[in-house]
Amino acid sequence: MSEGAAKKEERRKFQAIKGTRDLLPPDTALWNRVEQTAHEVFSTFGFGEIRLPLFEETELFRRSVGAETDVGKEMWYTFQDPLDLEQIIKERQEAGPNPYADKYGDLRAALFEVQRRVQALTLRPEATASVCRAYIEHNMEQWPQPVKLYYVGPMFRRERPQKGRYRQFYQIGAEVLGVVRPEAKQDWEKEVGKDAAIDAEVIEMLITFFDKVGLQGAELSINSIGHNGPDCRPHYIGKLYNELLKIEDKLGPDSKRRIRTNPLRVLDSKLESEQSYIEKLPHITDSLCPACSAHYAELKHELALRGVRYHENWRLVRGLDYYMRTTFEITAQGLGSQNAVCGGGRYDGLVELLGGPPTKGIGFAIGEDRLILSLQESGKAPAQQGRDVYIAWMGERAHATAIRAAKDLRKAGFSVELPPVEQKFGKALGQADKLGAKYALILGDNEVAEGLWTLKTLADGSQAKFTEPDLLDHLRKSKRVSS
Ligand code: AMP
Repeated sequence: MSEGAAKKEERRKFQAIKGTRDLLPPDTALWNRVEQTAHEVFSTFGFGEIRLPLFEETELFRRSVGAETDVGKEMWYTFQDPLDLEQIIKERQEAGPNPYADKYGDLRAALFEVQRRVQALTLRPEATASVCRAYIEHNMEQWPQPVKLYYVGPMFRRERPQKGRYRQFYQIGAEVLGVVRPEAKQDWEKEVGKDAAIDAEVIEMLITFFDKVGLQGAELSINSIGHNGPDCRPHYIGKLYNELLKIEDKLGPDSKRRIRTNPLRVLDSKLESEQSYIEKLPHITDSLCPACSAHYAELKHELALRGVRYHENWRLVRGLDYYMRTTFEITAQGLGSQNAVCGGGRYDGLVELLGGPPTKGIGFAIGEDRLILSLQESGKAPAQQGRDVYIAWMGERAHATAIRAAKDLRKAGFSVELPPVEQKFGKALGQADKLGAKYALILGDNEVAEGLWTLKTLADGSQAKFTEPDLLDHLRKSKRVSS
């Protein structure tokens, strides 16, 4: 690099990485309101918050999220952790000699360990796998069942950025996990009813949340994708596969590939030219086994009992084996093609797949970025919050009083702007206006000497004098009136 180029590089401005963005005020006020509403609504349904690490062992996602999904590993942010060989050697020495090892056994185990640790970490592309990992790690099957958890935070996927699709995006999600007691296995009819009621309650919680944040045009779609038993989904997939082969030449490259890797996912296709063919494919709900069919009927009944409106969408699928029965999605207006604000479903096999006991699970993830976009598009975003009081002060004595006044007003919950240096009153009032302040508190040496402070209402220019305690009283009363 030439010296000139190096200098230029040194002075280069930085930008946020493609697909990531800064969230700025006043937008962040809306983000906070949405998250606060989630905390409030979810806790009324008995959910507790879980805070998870942002990265996990890559293997956790490989085993759960897998490769042939929308969130497949080509989209992961994977990195190596510097290897702490000393630590590995120490741990192995502490573990003592392996009595079953042959000449190379210990060495092999050590190398395996090294390989496992080198193969690295991944920024979480979603949080369900982490919640299940935590359920197992903390023996939550010993807690009263089912365990109801929710989380809020960023996820990372290397997707092609566009409106409503980012590489760092935020999800608000919830999971209900319940270990399957051996005695419950016999009584499937009871279990089916119980599970459907849990699914319906999770969906009801979502709708309650969306109502409370004021999401416009929210539509709930539901479906059942059966289970992974021979008389259910695999049977349907066989049928689907045969039908797909018949229309293979009409499909685009992605769907063609999926016929062999994951035929269910063809139903997800948004490609216009494929729609008329896909519409004629057989429906999974016609091929469900009696238990899954009963579960689906029960789910609809439970939703109706809760006054939750839905429509059925037979093309709503999940591509992984451990997903079963209930799947659902919520779309909202103002989002263009990326209009799904929430996806969810039942995943009874996942905890077991990650090395835990047989456990049932259902959950959802709300795309917070899209939810916020939709709220903004429909004019639900709060306007920039101006200051309540701008303190216009002049003079040494007024400075000390202004500091005290700011402290007292802030303590009483008012937002206060206290300029760090004195300003001419005219300039100060202009500044107060710019900041959208409701009042200017005018403190000059006269006001301080008299003990009477001037409060100017900026909207109409009216002025009144108050003693210190009267002022607080007056502001409190007028805040109550306006809120
Ligand atoms: P998923 O975890 O793929 O089921 O997604 C759940 C929800 O997260 C979707 O309905 C979207 O609202 C949101 N979402 C998924 N991927 C992205 C992304 N790259 N950018 C913004 N939101 C996303």
